[in-house]
Amino acid sequence: MNILITGGAGYIGSHVAKQLLETSKHNITILDNLSTGSAKTLDTLKSIRAFKFVQIDLNAFDTVCEVLKENNIDTIIHFAASIVVPESVENPLKYYMNNTVNTTNLIRCAVANDVKRFIFSSTAAVYGEPVNLSETGIDESYETSPINPYGMSKLMSERVIQDTALAYKDFKYVIFRYFNVAGADINYIDGKLTPRIGQSFPNATHLIKIASECAVGKREKMAIFGDDFNTPDGTGVRDYLHVDDLADAHIKAIDYLVEDDSDIFNAGYGKGYSVKEVIETMKNVTCKEFQVDMAPRRAGDPATLISDNCKIKSKMNWTPKYEDLALICESAYAWEESV
Ligand code: UDP
Repeated sequence: MNILITGGAGYIGSHVAKQLLETSKHNITILDNLSTGSAKTLDTLKSIRAFKFVQIDLNAFDTVCEVLKENNIDTIIHFAASIVVPESVENPLKYYMNNTVNTTNLIRCAVANDVKRFIFSSTAAVYGEPVNLSETGIDESYETSPINPYGMSKLMSERVIQDTALAYKDFKYVIFRYFNVAGADINYIDGKLTPRIGQSFPNATHLIKIASECAVGKREKMAIFGDDFNTPDGTGVRDYLHVDDLADAHIKAIDYLVEDDSDIFNAGYGKGYSVKEVIETMKNVTCKEFQVDMAPRRAGDPATLISDNCKIKSKMNWTPKYEDLALICESAYAWEESV
């Protein structure tokens, strides 16, 4: 196959590219504007095997079409997007342009060039603030009701993809709704966990990234945003998923779409951990102490977000390998230490 990965220099896209380069013979083209993606990551990927890289923005409709045509692309895995929730509230138009409009443009190019398979990174943020849920997971039929422009920009993109597939029978899709993605490349050298790629995104806001920066000493302290939620210890509960397991789901989706029908899948482990549990785990696996303050709730944070992952496991035969919070924290820390 001839596969295009948009956002392949970014966090999740680079882990998918790594697995494809290591385990398949597919021709890979990476498209990235390098606004947040890392050129160093691309160099690391090049050391695995050759691929084509094109540095352009997805809004360059004609050039994107040329790339699809020249490389005879039959499969697109689309990651390129803006992903910071608070920023989406301050600058919604950036999110509707970079996410919804650019995805629509990419699909226009895809249809014009007979692309057969489209794999899309969506988010659990499309579920908004689930109510009446405690420890039970959300399945894909749960009502979508995003509470910020980021979630809405992804939900609108989902709709564009679904409507396109209804109109063009040769165009099939898999949409993944990611829960909390964390960790870094599981790679051992002489028995030591040595990630080659990881999360390089500047000014990260995600819990495990921040806790790993504290453990390494890049940050002096961190805060827990709220301890008065209706959860066992009062702090927010999330479903943390290792990035290499998520990448594997994308690889499975490529083959899935050859035979099977378009569908939406949650990607998560179906198990929740509280903010306090995550911070304790990071301290334990790294043997590092750091200061943790209490702070008020962050706007728009739901108490609990856990996936029901029955569908992805049964329909796509997805078997996660790194379902272990300690390993997620350890790999995030090892990556943070190396950069
Ligand atoms: N969180 C926290 N301190 C931080 C970052 C995050 O307490 O410095 C909490 C956040 O309020 C939520 C959980 O950790 O309950 C996961 O947040 P993250 O930003 O990683 O992902 P989200 O679930 O918001 O997509």
